[in-house]
Amino acid sequence: MGSFPKTFIQSVQYFRDVDNCLKFLVERRWKDGVTCPTCGRKDVAFMATRRMWQCKTKHPKSQFSVKTGTILEDSPLGLDKWLPIIWLLSGCKNGISSCEVARNLGVTQKTAWFMLHRIRYAMQDEEKGGKIGGPGCEIEADETYIGGKARNMHQGKRDKNRQLDNFGKAIVSAVLERHGEVRAKVVPNRRKKAIQEHVREHVEAGSTVYSDELKSYDGLDEYTHQVINHAETYVNGQIHTNGMENFWALLKRGLKGTYVSVEPFHLFRYVDEQVFRYNNRKDMTDAERFELLCTKITGKRLMYDELIAKEAKKQFAVDVF
Ligand SMILES: [Zn+2]
Repeated sequence: MGSFPKTFIQSVQYFRDVDNCLKFLVERRWKDGVTCPTCGRKDVAFMATRRMWQCKTKHPKSQFSVKTGTILEDSPLGLDKWLPIIWLLSGCKNGISSCEVARNLGVTQKTAWFMLHRIRYAMQDEEKGGKIGGPGCEIEADETYIGGKARNMHQGKRDKNRQLDNFGKAIVSAVLERHGEVRAKVVPNRRKKAIQEHVREHVEAGSTVYSDELKSYDGLDEYTHQVINHAETYVNGQIHTNGMENFWALLKRGLKGTYVSVEPFHLFRYVDEQVFRYNNRKDMTDAERFELLCTKITGKRLMYDELIAKEAKKQFAVDVF
């Protein structure tokens, strides 16, 4: 697409035109022509004035828009607002806060918060099919603590957080293929079961796995497991977890600098956001990364209720400040 935006500013200008938004998303969502998201019929009629389609079969949502059946469904905000924010979140290194989005779009912070969470949901990698690594490949495995100081929280939150088993901190476990992808996940604790399950789910047998001396990594017998003792040194030839340290630095910079405080309940969404950017950082322009995210957005659906759940709703006030 010759005129397609290459920079954020160009995207704001380009997507100011609603028909450009529509054309862009339709081409990505329905490569072989518009299809009813409910029943799959292809002979749908376009209603130009409303920018919607009419399906000839009688069923709910027989009139649908490009948002129907995607994470944008039910959002009253226009695509001219959505697409530039998707562009920003797909590329910014440290994340964007709901305050910034609210100010820039002229929407409430609550609206901005839901926008960002919907986009994060699209960033989630559900194609777990392929493992990373394999014989001859080098994998770094590590885990880190994320979270606030328990004494700063009020009583109710403290009780809830105690269930996390880690004094108010959450734990993220990750495996990273050197020069390749990272797979990260919030885990309930640092015990052997949780840690090794994550490694085995994502790493091919026969890989060389580097970790620190944490006992939870003992017994990864289908791998060549090499340990760096951090009490002594951080690098011993090939044996180190510096790639993981780099990823943690990015994740924590985003969480601390931009999001200030994140409830454990929502932490996995911020982890998904960082993983998406990390795994798509190389050999890809901003425009290509944005386009990739748009294809993920139209393939998924996130309902408002599902996102907030009752519990999270109560926490909203403390979530974002
Ligand atoms: Zn239909």
